[in-house]
Amino acid sequence: MCLNPEPAVRYKNLKECPMSVATNSPVPESLQPFLSSPKKMLIGGKWVDAKSGKTFEVFDPASDQVIAGVAEGDAADVELAVAAARKAFDQGPWSKMGGSERSRLIWRIGELIEEHADELAQIETLDNGKPFAVAKAADVALAADMFRYMAGWATKIEGNTIPIQLPYAPESEFHAFTLREPVGVVGQIIPWNFPLLMAAWKLAPALTTGCTVILKPAEQTPLSALRLGELILQAGVPDGVVNIITGFGETAGAAIASHDQIDKVAFTGSTEVGKLIINAATGNLKRVSLELGGKSPNVIYDDADLDSAIAGAADAIFFNQGEVCSAGSRLFVQKGVYDEVVAGVSEIAKNLKVGSGFDASTQMGPLVSREQFDRVTGYLKAGVSEGAEAAAGGSALDRPGYFVQPTVLKNASEDMSVVREEIFGPVVAAMPFGDEAELVGQANNTAYGLAAGIWTRDISKAHRFAKAVKAGSVWINCYSVFDAALPFGGYKQSGWGREMGHAVLENYLQTKSVCVSL
Ligand code: NDP
Repeated sequence: MCLNPEPAVRYKNLKECPMSVATNSPVPESLQPFLSSPKKMLIGGKWVDAKSGKTFEVFDPASDQVIAGVAEGDAADVELAVAAARKAFDQGPWSKMGGSERSRLIWRIGELIEEHADELAQIETLDNGKPFAVAKAADVALAADMFRYMAGWATKIEGNTIPIQLPYAPESEFHAFTLREPVGVVGQIIPWNFPLLMAAWKLAPALTTGCTVILKPAEQTPLSALRLGELILQAGVPDGVVNIITGFGETAGAAIASHDQIDKVAFTGSTEVGKLIINAATGNLKRVSLELGGKSPNVIYDDADLDSAIAGAADAIFFNQGEVCSAGSRLFVQKGVYDEVVAGVSEIAKNLKVGSGFDASTQMGPLVSREQFDRVTGYLKAGVSEGAEAAAGGSALDRPGYFVQPTVLKNASEDMSVVREEIFGPVVAAMPFGDEAELVGQANNTAYGLAAGIWTRDISKAHRFAKAVKAGSVWINCYSVFDAALPFGGYKQSGWGREMGHAVLENYLQTKSVCVSL
């Protein structure tokens, strides 16, 4: 996500105050009441323990310390949540409520998010590790905006009147029209990289179309979804419309994906689990939408404004610790400026302040979990052993918490795992290219197709690339620009369907044709 349309401005003072590690700052006192309250699940408008009585631990990634115990829901709890969501959908009140009233409630959720912006951003920083300023300016602000944008659609869901004439009975007359109806009960499974924002991307369109929901946040980051659940009840959303099940993917998530009383599942996460979701959904042929992984190309031509392009390339990979599905993790640089760009991005990497998200000087926080730390450091070792060279970073930081160095790998080639596979960390592989024909083949040489960036002053070249690249989003002379009105989603193995914009409504609506004989 782009916090500042000019990343060059954000990074230009780094050299003047180099400090590669920001000190750890304590968790804000104001969060203690929330943290010390029991972390239950939301089912049918009530906060409940898991039927099994089990809980699991949630960690602060900046300190590796436990911050909360959370109810560990499984199939038995999913069963209760589905019953509550079915009741709210099949018997009302949600499905019987008019668009105008739904719109007011959804708008109110956006307002409440904004009113609690500091608290929600603090929860996100504590649970995910990201800098507080990023959590507040990006995650929280965009989440509020998503609800407000979607509130407008609740009163604009319309079918068509369609003139028809039967070839075998041309004198007969009909009045034919379509209705747009909610698909019903929706299971939504979300990841840990933007916990609150992913909940908003999923919940807001489901609610505006009149669906009811069972939401499962990631086991690493369940806290902001639980606080959002409280705000959703405070907004006046009826019981059973939004149910929140905390727990593990293999148990709670799998039970949602396979449940035959759930009409649709919306998933964001790894391509590997996305494929499991598709298989699990075959039982009742529920609809599936998927927002999956990426290995996105970010291209810098020699005619680009290099200051902007270098800062933009750094931002495209280091923002949110690189834990961004659309991160610009394959950097293609035209041969004549390759050394200059690699040196520029490396200098930014070396000067980024890595530390606790609660330290105001921090620009990059820890990775989300021990597992993700092991995964990313494993890729760093693999990259070097496969022949890449670290022009910046290349290893973990020697301190508690899951901190790694922002890393620029040069001399990378297309056969290396660091170029083919999604690392989901602050690691960019820089590769030279010669001309446009060569570039397009290289850029599209991936199983993924989520996003792409291009930096050039030649507008025709930029548009030719936008047309040729197989990706759901293309950014020209910018990167990671997101808006609730702009559709986002993947080509190829990056997913099915779109998030945001009016395109997302297709995920949650079905069309009924009605034909009246006159
Ligand atoms: P997953 O795909 O495993 O997790 C995403 C969500 O799916 C979580 O809520 C998880 O639950 C749930 N889940 C896991 N297994 C199942 C299942 N069998 N059935 C239903 N739901 C399931 O991602 P990881 O957290 O393991 O991250 C691994 C890699 O995935 C990352 O390194 C990154 O490459 C990629 N990723 C991509 C994301 C994207 O936005 N494209 C987001 C996150 C990760 P739980 O966490 O509770 O187990």
